[in-house]
Order: sequence, then structure tokens, then C-alpha cells
Amino acid sequence: MSQVDHIQALLAEQEIFKAPEQVSKQANLKNYEEVYEYSVNENDAFWAEVASRFSWLEPWQKVSSFDGVNHKWFEGAKTNITLNALDRHVASGKKNKLALLWLGEDGSERSVTYGMLLRMVNRLANGLKALGVSKGDRVVIYMPLTIEGVASMLACARIGAVHSVVYAGFAAGALRTRIEDAGAKVVIAGDIGIRRGKAVDLKSIVDAAVAPLDSVEHVVIFFRAEKRPLKEKEVDFADLLKYPATCEAEALEAEHPLYILYTSGTTGKPKGVVHVHGGYMVGTAYHLESFFDLKEDDVFFCMSDIGWVVGHSYITYAPLVGGMTTIFREGAPDTPHPGIIWEIVEKYGVTAMFTAPTAVRMWMRMGADYPANYDLSSLRILACAGEPLNPEAFRWAMKHLTADHGYVMDNWWQTELGGPTLATLVTQEHKPGFVGRPMPGVEICIVNEDGEEMPPNTGGLLALKRPFPHMLRTIYGTPERYEKAWKQLPGYYLTGDIAIFDEAGRFSVLGRADDVLNVAGHRIGTADVESALVAHPAVAEAAVIGIPDEIKGEAIKAFVVLRNGFSAGSDLQKTLTVHVRNELGPIATPQEITFVDGLPKTRSGKIMRRLLKARELGQDPGDLSTLES
Ligand code: AMP
Repeated sequence: MSQVDHIQALLAEQEIFKAPEQVSKQANLKNYEEVYEYSVNENDAFWAEVASRFSWLEPWQKVSSFDGVNHKWFEGAKTNITLNALDRHVASGKKNKLALLWLGEDGSERSVTYGMLLRMVNRLANGLKALGVSKGDRVVIYMPLTIEGVASMLACARIGAVHSVVYAGFAAGALRTRIEDAGAKVVIAGDIGIRRGKAVDLKSIVDAAVAPLDSVEHVVIFFRAEKRPLKEKEVDFADLLKYPATCEAEALEAEHPLYILYTSGTTGKPKGVVHVHGGYMVGTAYHLESFFDLKEDDVFFCMSDIGWVVGHSYITYAPLVGGMTTIFREGAPDTPHPGIIWEIVEKYGVTAMFTAPTAVRMWMRMGADYPANYDLSSLRILACAGEPLNPEAFRWAMKHLTADHGYVMDNWWQTELGGPTLATLVTQEHKPGFVGRPMPGVEICIVNEDGEEMPPNTGGLLALKRPFPHMLRTIYGTPERYEKAWKQLPGYYLTGDIAIFDEAGRFSVLGRADDVLNVAGHRIGTADVESALVAHPAVAEAAVIGIPDEIKGEAIKAFVVLRNGFSAGSDLQKTLTVHVRNELGPIATPQEITFVDGLPKTRSGKIMRRLLKARELGQDPGDLSTLES
């Protein structure tokens, strides 16, 4: 379907869905309109009220400041996110409450209470200090999804070190680029991850990534398989856990960086998105209550990984700050059997889940019999984010997963934005294909390329009109990349997405405005894959586009021009596929590679991916006046 047909189909959508009454009736945020109005009219007062619910070592002097590009929140205040995530719960009688419940593919379970987690984090924090890590130092975490991975993040935060988690599915080249860009002196890594019953060797990836890097002083290894003798620079994670279990949290400025999380941008260089202790805590925890609608006794199952922003905000930080119990699971969602997720919902009485549309489409393909075999009546909230939630998947999930007891809730945000920004709340109606309305504190609109705000039903660039506390502060090392998003059309922050809104103010996000793909909810820059391809000796030039994929949303297709002396063939196709996989990791593996004699380019030499895509999909390529003939 072309973009125009897609928009017409969206606007013609008449069916409206609602949450069952028993779900909307007990909403935390009942009066959205009123709260929203107040949040934008009295923005500082609104956020100050939210922030006053947390522990601060010193109060703020000023709620916010914004010069049109850079923004600060709660200036003068001191805190540490771990004081809010751990100490205050332990102090207020929740020491023995379950904080995290980890599940393995083989049915194993591990859990920690708030008291246990605080002690573990303190030991690790002391261990990191002993390795010479101090406030402001960067630590890269390349860990499988485990309690130890979460604790490593919190241990860095405890001492004011800045963590940068790299998803343990990225290959050595991608890991090395991130360690170098962050200037990390310590790397914490697991020896293996487990997926589909197999051990994934992370250790050799870490070895290859750090081998040429003199800047890395220590590599802490979390052994799960057999313990191997330690090499130079290596430290056993278990030894860090022998340090004392008390460690005073570093008193940090609210604006002190908490983490750098790399995401794909339009250049081949990943963007190190920086979030801070104070504002990030306030905003992400607020949305746990306002959007996710979580209460004290909810059982929240977050199907993400600490390698992504969802895992940062909604496995590690906000649920702990909110004093919740979170379930998370290592491995594949269809292993050991296609009904495993529903078995978990039934077994633990899961009340709220966070997942991605890709997973819903996968369940849809596997069939409704699997969820039907289990009692899902506890499930009240099924939040979906990461990519467009297509109407078919929404309808299927409403029918077969949440039925008459819950609600499927779309929410749009980005690594840069920290938490739900556009969303449908339990009190709001859902129109299939539309993600929803702005969350409190968010002012958002559609602009055209001249910076004019668009009326309803007109597609354009999705732009924020003001910052909020949990929005990124900068791009690490290249602040100009952050500034550009505000400076291109002054007064607006360009999110990089294209969207439209209807007369009722509901937004539908149609896709990216730039050369970034979304494969199974993960952002992949076309430039990342192209640079990996041209790094191979057989490749002269490469162009990458996204093609529709029933399950993953988009799949990667590459067009490759070979150097003289290399001949096209299926062997080379395989070699190049493996090469990209080794450079970037499995998520960036091209589904198709086509050899071509040349690539369409503009007169200034830029590859016209738009034309390649239009040809591929049999669509109108639009204006070709700049095409080099
Ligand atoms: P990431 O930073 O990896 O979380 O990716 C963010 C991008 O995913 C956004 O810029 C959108 O293109 C896409 N995205 C995330 N959530 C949604 C959603 N609910 N609907 C449509 N697109 C989404």
C-alpha cells in the first residue's frame, strides 16, 4: 500500500475501541484533559508537583530552564536515582518485597527483594570503586539479560559513573565503536547469553572488541558457564560481590548524567543519547503511573532487554523507583514452546505487560489456540511500543489476549525521549492505526519543511514544541547532532518521524523521515549496514532500504555494486550476509542482497534510496528532478 493509500485507510477508520469499564474505572489518571491542560499551561508547577514525590538530598532552586536548544531540570537539586529506586523502599518497610523476578528459557527462576538488590548493588559499587571507577567515568555493560546486568547498571549509578549498556546481540565491531565513543575504561560483560536453548558466546565478542583498545583498563567477566582462567585486565564479577554491602550513594546534581545509550542515526556513527539522574527519574516514573496505570500490587512483565531504552526505563529504573515487582525473561518468546508467554501470564498472574507489535504479529501467526490454552484473565494492560501497531495486530490482541478483562495500549516514544510521549490511556478510546494523544507535559505537533504547523489530517514532520524532564540532554561527544534537531526549524525539535493527527487530536506515526529502518522494533541506520558492506573488499558501493515484512515490520534489503574482479553469485551473497552479521550483529542481517551495476544518485552524488524503494515496491518514485541522468 502506498503512503497516500495508507493515510486514506487510516482516516477512513471508523471503529473505536474502549477499555472494559472495570479497567478504566480504576485508572490512576482519570481526568486526562484537565491534567494535560494544567501540565502545558503551568508546566513548571506540574513537574515540580510530580518531582516532590521523590527523595532529594537537596531541593531545586529552579524547576526548568530552556534556551531554545538546551534544557535543564531541577537545577540545584541533589539526588541519586538509586536512593529512590532502592534505599527509600528499604527504609519504608519494603525491604522484603520482590523487586525483580528473572525467568530463564529452561524454566529457571531467580528473584531478589529490594533489600537483597540494595546489598548486591552496594557490593558491586564498592568493587567498581576499587577498580578505580569514579564519578563521571564511563562503564560499558555488555551483559545478558540477568539480575546481574540490572545490578551493574544500578551500581554505576550509585557512584555517579555513567553506564552505557550495549545490547548483547551486537557484534564485536559495533561493541568496539561504542566503547571507544564513550571512552569507557571498564567493561562489564557476561561470558554467555542464552537464546533458543543455546549458549551464545559473548566472551569472544568482548575479547575481539577490546583487544585493540588500550583505553580499557579492566574487563569484568560475569561467568555463567565454566569459569575460565582470567587474562590480563580481567576481573571476576564474583570477586566484586565480595566487597562490603554498604556504599553511600554519591550525592549528584539532578543534571548529572545517568547513562549513554547508543541508537542509530542517519550517519554510520551511532548516537550516544544522554539521560540524567533527576529529570529521567521523575518523568519515567510518572508515566509508570499515568500511562502504564500501575499500582502497588501489580505484576508487571516487561518483554524488553536492558540493551534498549525500554529495558532502561521499564525494567531497571522506573519500576524500581515506583517500588514495583517486575518480571523479565532471557531468551526467545517462542522457546521452549509457542505458548510460553501465556503460561507465564497464567502462572504468575501477570497484570500488566510491555511488548512490541512484532511480538503480537508473531503470536498472531502462531494462532489463537496458544493463548486460549491459558487463563489470561489477570491481564489488565498490554502496552505496545517500538513500531507502528497495525490495526490487524491490535484487533487480534484485543480479541485473543486482553478480551473482556484488559486493554491493548499503543505508545510512541524513542531512545531520545525516555518514556511514553504519545499514548492511549486506559480511559481513552483507541482508533486502530492511531497511537494516541500527547502525555501530560508534552506539546507536540506536525510541521512541514518550512516550519509551518499543519492542521488535522495533513501528514508532516512530528515535532516537539518544548522539552520535558526525561528527554535527552545531548548526544555524547557530538552535541551538534542534538542541537541540529532543535535548530533545523527553530522552535521545534524534530523527532525524525512522519505523522498525522485526526480531528480528535489522535496521532498516527507513519514511519521515519530519515534513513533509519525499524526492524522488529529496533532502529537500524541504513548507513550502518552500508558502511559494514563497503568495508568488505568485494564491495565498491552499497545502498540499503527497508522492505515490508509481515512479522518484523521492515526487513533489510541491500543493493551492492561489486569491485572489479569479483563476480556476483549466491556464494558472495552468503559471504556478505555473514560479514554484516559479524560486523553489526544478527539484528542487522540483510534479508536480501541484490547485485547491481550502479546506484541511482542525485547530481550531488547522494544515493537515492527513495527511488530504489519505490522501484522495489512498484510505487511512484515522486520528484526525480535531482536524479543524475
Ligand atoms: P527507538 O529509539 O529504538 O525506541 O526507536 C524509536 C522509533 O521507533 C520511533 O522514532 C518510531 O519511528 C518508532 N516507534 C516507536 N514506537 C512507535 C509506535 N508506538 N508507533 C509507531 N512507531 C513507533
